[in-house]
Amino acid sequence: MCKFYADSMLGKLSRYLRFLGFDTLYRTDESIDEMLQISVDDNRIVLSRSQEVFQLCIKREIKTLFLTNIDVSGQLREIKDNFNVDFACHPLKMRCSVCNGDLKEKSKLDILNRIPEGTAKEYDDFWECSKCFKIYWVGSHWEDIKKTISEL
Ligand SMILES: [Zn+2]
Repeated sequence: MCKFYADSMLGKLSRYLRFLGFDTLYRTDESIDEMLQISVDDNRIVLSRSQEVFQLCIKREIKTLFLTNIDVSGQLREIKDNFNVDFACHPLKMRCSVCNGDLKEKSKLDILNRIPEGTAKEYDDFWECSKCFKIYWVGSHWEDIKKTISEL
């Protein structure tokens, strides 16, 4: 499975990729050099909208994709076309959209005091990030992402 390093300005795309189960880092405070070095070490594909970053990757023979689309569905389509990846939505594959951590299944009872009452009534399946402990469930946000993916 492809691993990615999304350049700054690609925050939304990195959240989508994590939801789809792809190990994705997102550049915030790191320098371009740090991003490139980590990508070499981890065998990550650098995603960027910057020609400068793209040219640096080519020079150093780092796998990269220069994204021309501004909107996330266009960007996902570019990734799909270039790397032949499968964008199937599956909750067990998801990674934390905030920190890229693995999600673990949780029973509703265990996390009942950490979710809104309405959510507890409406949903039965929950996951918790193993790193930042954010709770996830298959809610409306999930449906939005599924819709975006199905239209690619
Ligand atoms: Zn997390």
